[in-house]
Amino acid sequence: MTKRVAIVTGAARGIGLATTKILLEEGAAVVMVDWDGETLMEAARDLRDVLPLDLDVSKPEDVVEMVAETEKSFGRIDHLINNAGVADFGPIAETDFERWRAVMSVNLDGVFLCSQAAAPALKKSQGCIVNIASISGLRASTLRVAYGTSKAGVIQLTQQQAVELGEFGVRANCIAPGPVRTKLAMAVHSQAIINAYHDAIPLNRYGTEVEIANVIAFLCSSKASFVTGQTIAVDGGFECTGVGLPAL
Ligand code: ADP
Repeated sequence: MTKRVAIVTGAARGIGLATTKILLEEGAAVVMVDWDGETLMEAARDLRDVLPLDLDVSKPEDVVEMVAETEKSFGRIDHLINNAGVADFGPIAETDFERWRAVMSVNLDGVFLCSQAAAPALKKSQGCIVNIASISGLRASTLRVAYGTSKAGVIQLTQQQAVELGEFGVRANCIAPGPVRTKLAMAVHSQAIINAYHDAIPLNRYGTEVEIANVIAFLCSSKASFVTGQTIAVDGGFECTGVGLPAL
């Protein structure tokens, strides 16, 4: 059987690294992309069948290199997981244009650029795209003017991709994670925020990176062969409650 080849952006840590490990366990080769070269190399050091690439998904020339290096090393692309993202929360009045663009360029431009560059290879392999949005893209809340808008854009972009690439056998889906117990979230979230999330989430807890990665792996698998254009909230039921997100 031909080895599946996945590109995972933002693979140095968190959801991207957890996804990398699951896809490797399933027998795929993984191109790990991140602009934090040091953390990326550390993460990739003990992994087999990976190609770490230190580059910026918001730069068109880097993204062209990403696809060229993947094809040079592995000859194909089956899955593109657009996970690289930045979280920056602030009120509208304090979100100057530079701050707005910094969020948009990675979270939205990055998904567009990587997908566009990988599309010819995905058409050849009848592969798939999985974009990582957020429940902040499904529901407005304070301080998320840039972040939430960028993630809402990712949800719409996923539908555009599904509609246009479907005739080539390429699927595109989106995941909207709820709060995830990453090191970063735990450092930033106060006990009051943690308690508020626990109360608001039907399963009464944060998710784990692996719980998000498992759904990404499912969407990449042949078990999801008739699923495209969808956004799946992986959030312990938070989205269906309609409760607002706590202010950070
Ligand atoms: P999560 O909790 O969703 O996994 P993290 O912030 O822990 O989120 O991980 C996001 C990853 O994306 C980080 O490793 C970060 O370095 C990476 N990243 C952010 N912006 C870019 C970019 N422009 N190009 C490549 N990687 C990026």
